[in-house]
Amino acid sequence: MVKSSVLGYPRIGENREWKKALEAFWSGKLEESEFQRQLQEIRLNHLRKQQEKGIALIPVNDFSCYDHLLDTATMFGIVPKRFGHKGGVVPLSVYYGIARGTKEAAASEMTKWFNTNYHYIVPELDGASPYLTENKPLIAYREAKEKLGIEGKPVIVGPLTFLKLSKGYSLSETDAWLDRLLPLYVQIFQELAREGVEWVQIDEPILVTKLSEADVRRLKTIYKTFAESAPNLNIMLQTYFESVEHYRDIAALPVKGIGLDFVHGFSGNMSSIKALGFPEDKVLGAGVIDGRGIWKAPLREKLELIEELAEIVSPERLIVQSSCSLLHVPVTAGLETKLESELKEALAFADEKLDELVLLAKAFSRDETGITGELEQSEQAYETFKQSGKRKRSDIQHAVAALSDRHLERSSPFSERHIAQQKRWQLPVFPTTTIGSFPQTVEVRKARQLWRKGEWSHEKYAGFIRQQIDIWIKLQEELGLDVLVHGEFERTDMVEFFGEKLAGFAFTQNGWVQSYGSRCVKPPIIFGDVAFTGEMTVEETKYAQSRTKRPVKGMLTGPITIMNWSFVREDIPREQIAYQLAYALRQEVEALEHAGISMIQVDEPAVREGLPLKENEQAEYLAWAVKAFRMATCTVQDTTQIHTHMCYCEFHDMIDSIKAMDADVISIETSRSHGELIHSFELNTYKQGIGLGVYDIHSPRIPRVEEMTSMIERALHVLDPNLFWINPDCGLKTRGFEETVESLRNMVEATRIARTKQ
Ligand code: GLN
Ligand code: ZN
Repeated sequence: MVKSSVLGYPRIGENREWKKALEAFWSGKLEESEFQRQLQEIRLNHLRKQQEKGIALIPVNDFSCYDHLLDTATMFGIVPKRFGHKGGVVPLSVYYGIARGTKEAAASEMTKWFNTNYHYIVPELDGASPYLTENKPLIAYREAKEKLGIEGKPVIVGPLTFLKLSKGYSLSETDAWLDRLLPLYVQIFQELAREGVEWVQIDEPILVTKLSEADVRRLKTIYKTFAESAPNLNIMLQTYFESVEHYRDIAALPVKGIGLDFVHGFSGNMSSIKALGFPEDKVLGAGVIDGRGIWKAPLREKLELIEELAEIVSPERLIVQSSCSLLHVPVTAGLETKLESELKEALAFADEKLDELVLLAKAFSRDETGITGELEQSEQAYETFKQSGKRKRSDIQHAVAALSDRHLERSSPFSERHIAQQKRWQLPVFPTTTIGSFPQTVEVRKARQLWRKGEWSHEKYAGFIRQQIDIWIKLQEELGLDVLVHGEFERTDMVEFFGEKLAGFAFTQNGWVQSYGSRCVKPPIIFGDVAFTGEMTVEETKYAQSRTKRPVKGMLTGPITIMNWSFVREDIPREQIAYQLAYALRQEVEALEHAGISMIQVDEPAVREGLPLKENEQAEYLAWAVKAFRMATCTVQDTTQIHTHMCYCEFHDMIDSIKAMDADVISIETSRSHGELIHSFELNTYKQGIGLGVYDIHSPRIPRVEEMTSMIERALHVLDPNLFWINPDCGLKTRGFEETVESLRNMVEATRIARTKQ
C-alpha cells in the first residue's frame, strides 16, 4: 500500500495543554521534572493519535519546547554570548532566556516563518563555535520506538535553510559556517543510521525561493556529503509553501526522496515534473493535503491528482502527505460544539487531515472496499456547505463588482488635502499621537468576561467602557498629546472584534494555532460573503470625541489585515474577499465621518504577511491590497484625515504600494529597524504624513527623553518636518498603566525639545 505521512503535528495540544505547561513552568509553578513529564505526555499523545489513525510515516522531533529553529541552534550549542553559556547541553533556563530575554540579556530577534503567521527565533551565529550538544532527532526517535513501538521519521531543519535564516555572519563567511555545521549534521545522521532509522526528513523550505549560484553549489555539496557519510539513511529532502526553484538541480541531488508541495506550489511543481520528469531512483513525497487551510479536501480530485502523479512516478515510490507541517492549523474540529453543523462538517483541522491522508492512501491502493463511499461522504460535506444559501449575498457581490471597476480616488490630491486638514485642526509641528490601544488591565479583561458570561448587562459594560475612555481622554490631554484615541477597551483582538460584528464570519471555541512561543491565536473563519450589518465603532469613538476638543482618531482594522489574520474560504479568490471586507469597512468609515469623526485610522499591520513568496506574483497582490485599502477609505471629504499603521515589517520593497494607498498619515514601527527604514523613505521620497515609532512598545522599559530626541533628529535628516508625526511603535494594550503614562510623558517631552530646535 502507498504510504501516508505528515511533515509535523501541532504542538499545542487539544486544549492548549502545551501552552499551559510552558507558562506554568515560566512562572515557577511547575518543577522542571514535572514540566518535562507533562511535555512528554503531550508528545506521546500526539504520536499515539497519528499511530491510531493509521499514518504510516510518523514525524518525530517536530515537537518543541518553544520553536524548532531555536531547537536546532541550541542543539548545535549556538547561544549568543550574552547568555553566558559555558558548553554542554543547553539548559532550559538558557533556552528560554534566548527566546524570551532575561533580566540581564535581551531576547533574540523573532521573525515570521516564510509567509505564515508562525514566528521563529532567529539564530545568532556571531562568536559561536558550534558543537553537537545532543542528538535531538535520535532522542525523539528512541522515545517513540520505546514507548509506542513507532518507527518514526526524525525531522530536522536542513543546513541551507538554517544558515539562510540565521544572522550574525557575512555572506563571505557562509562556506566557513557550512564547514562548521556539516560535520555536526553528519554525526547526527550517522548515529541515526546506526540506530536503524529508515527515513529522515530534512526541511529545506528555502528551496522555494530563488537561490544564488553559490547557494545552489552549496546545496550540492551538502547533500553529497550526507549521501557519502550516511549511505544507508533515506533522506527525504522536504520543501513546502510554494513550488521549488531550481528543480533540475534539486532532482539531481543524491537523496532518496524529494517532498514537494502540490497545494501551494501546485502549478510550478506540476509543470516541473511534467517537463523534466521525476528521477527513477527517488521517492516523491506528494504534498496533496493542505497543511495550512482548514477545509475538507475534495478527495476525489486529490485521488485523481495522485493518479496523475503515479503516471510519472511509479506508485511504490509515492508517499501521500500533507503539503507542510500541520503546525499551522488547529488540532481538531471534533471539539467544536457551537458551530453550525453545515460548517463544522466542512472543516478539516490537523486530526481530520490525518484521516484524509489515510483515506487517500487506502483509496489509491484500492486495498479496501467501501472506500469510494467514504470519499464521497467526506467530499459531500464540503459540497453541501459550499452550496449553502447562507453563505451568499448577491447584493454584496453586485455592489463589490460595481465598485472594483471604478477608479478609487480621494477627490483631491494629498497636497490640497493636507492644507485643508491643517486649516481645520491647526496642529502644531510634529503632532503627537498613539497607535490606538491603551493598557488592557486585569480590570478591563474581567469586565469583558462578566459581560460575556451575562453577569453584566450591556448597559453596565458600556458604562464601564465609557469610564475607561474618560480616564484616558483626560490623561491624554494632561500629557499633552495632540491627536487622541479612545483606547480600544471594548476589543479583545483587532480582528475578532470586527469579525464578530460583520456577517460572513464564524468563531471556533478551540481553533488555536501557535503564533510564537506559547502565544496562540484563534483566527476567525470567513466562511461566506462579508457584509456590514451595523455600526461597529461609532458609539465609543463618538463618546470619546464628545469629551474633548482635540481630535479623536477613529480606529479600524484594515481589509487586508482582517483577511490575513483569518482562515478564509477558498471558493472565491482572496482578492474578492478583500474587496468585500473593504466595502464593509467603507460603510463604517462613512458612518464615523457622518458622526463627526474626522481622523480615521485604518490599521494594516498584516499587509506584508500576505505577500506571495514568488517575486513575480507580488505586484499583483500588492495592487489589489492597495485597491482594497482605497476602496475602504476614498469616499471621505478632503478635511477628513485618513491614517494607517503598519508594524514590524520591512518596507523597502513595498514603498510604492504604501504610497499608492494614499493615506494622509502613516505611522510605522521604527525603533527596532531604525536606519534601514528611514533610508527606504528617503530613497523613495515619501511625501505624505509620516509618524515614526520613537520607542519600542514590546519592552516594559521606559524610554529616556534623549533616546527619543536623537531618534527624532535622525529622522528629520531625511523627512520633511511639516509632514512628521511622533508616536510609539505600536498599540499599548499589552503594557502596564504606569509605564505607559511615563513613556508617553517622555515622548511628549522629547517632542517639545525637538520643536524648540525648529
Ligand atoms: N490599533 C491597534 C492597537 O493599537 C494596532 C495594533 C497593531 O498594529 N498590531 O492595538
Ligand atoms: Zn502595530
